[in-house]
Amino acid sequence: MTDIARTALKGFAADLGGTKTAVARIEKGIVVDRRLSPTDGAADPAAQIAAIEALLKELGHTRGAPLGVAVAGRIDRSGKWHAVNTGTLSAIQDVDLTTELNRTIGAATCLNDAGAAAVAEALFGAGAESDSFAYITVSTGVGGGLVINKRLLSCANGLAGHVGFVSSRFADAVCGSGRQATVESIAGGRGIAAAAAAFGKQGIDARNVFEAAADGQDWASRIVTTSARAVATLIGDLTAILGLDTVALGGSIGLAPGYLDKVAAAMREEPELFRPKIVHASLGHGAPLIGALAAHLRKESV
Ligand code: ADP
Repeated sequence: MTDIARTALKGFAADLGGTKTAVARIEKGIVVDRRLSPTDGAADPAAQIAAIEALLKELGHTRGAPLGVAVAGRIDRSGKWHAVNTGTLSAIQDVDLTTELNRTIGAATCLNDAGAAAVAEALFGAGAESDSFAYITVSTGVGGGLVINKRLLSCANGLAGHVGFVSSRFADAVCGSGRQATVESIAGGRGIAAAAAAFGKQGIDARNVFEAAADGQDWASRIVTTSARAVATLIGDLTAILGLDTVALGGSIGLAPGYLDKVAAAMREEPELFRPKIVHASLGHGAPLIGALAAHLRKESV
C-alpha cells in the first residue's frame, strides 16, 4: 500500500457510525474541516444519506468532488450496504449505497468504516511498517480491518474483518448480529451501556461509564476492564490466526484515556507469541475519513 502519497489526498469524506456521522474536507491528507451529527440508528437509508448530504453541503462539497464514504456494516461487491448488527442500524439491508449516493450527492467509493481506517493506518499511520496489521475500532460496536502483506482482507459479501462478531468468554447476551456472546456485545459502547443498565444504572452511555470509572466508582471500572479484557483476548485470537505484529486501536472507546493501557495490561496474561504491539490509531478519529478518501482516489487512479 504505497501507491498514493498522503499529500495527494484532497477532497471529502464521510464516516457514518452507530452513534455519530462525521464528514470532513481533506487537504494534503489532513482533515482541515469537520462536521458531526448524531446518527439516528432507526433512520431509513434515504434519511441516512440525506444526513451525510446536509453535512457535506456545510463543508462546501459540490457534485464531482472526490468523495469516500465509510459506513458501519458491510458493503458487498455489488455495492450494497447491510447492517451486520441490526440493533445498531436497524433499517439498513440491501441498500444500493453507491448508486444512491451517485444519484443524490455524486460519485463516491463506499467501504466499511473500520476497513477504511485500516487502509489509512496501513498507508500513513500505525501500520505503515507492518506486514500483518489489524485496526480495531471500539466504538458503538467493535469493528476491524485486517491488512495482511499490505492488502486489506476483503471478500464478496463484505463481512471480512468484522472482528467484533467473534465469540467472547466474557459475554453472554445475544448480539444484534444474531450470534451468541460476541466481543461486540460486551466490549462496544452499546454493550457497555447494557452492562451499566444491568448494574441498575439505566439510561447512561459508555462515555458516562468511563466518567464514573475515572471518578473511582468500582462498578464502572469493572465494566471498562471487562471490555478491555475482551478486546485483549480478541487480539490474542486474531494473532493466532494471522500472526499479527501490530494492532492499532481506534473509535471513541479505543482512544479514550486509559483504555489502551487496560488492554495492554490484560494482554500481559497472554504468552508473548500472542502479544503484538498495541498502539493508538495514529490518525485518531480522522482514520476512517482519510482512509475512505484514499480508497476513492486509489480506485479512480486505477
Ligand atoms: P461511532 O460508533 O458512531 O463511529 P464513536 O467511535 O464515537 O462513534 O463511538 C461511540 C461510542 O463511544 C458511544 O458508546 C459513546 O458513549 C462512546 N464514547 C464517546 N466518547 C467517549 C469517551 N470520551 N470516553 C469513552 N467512551 C466514549
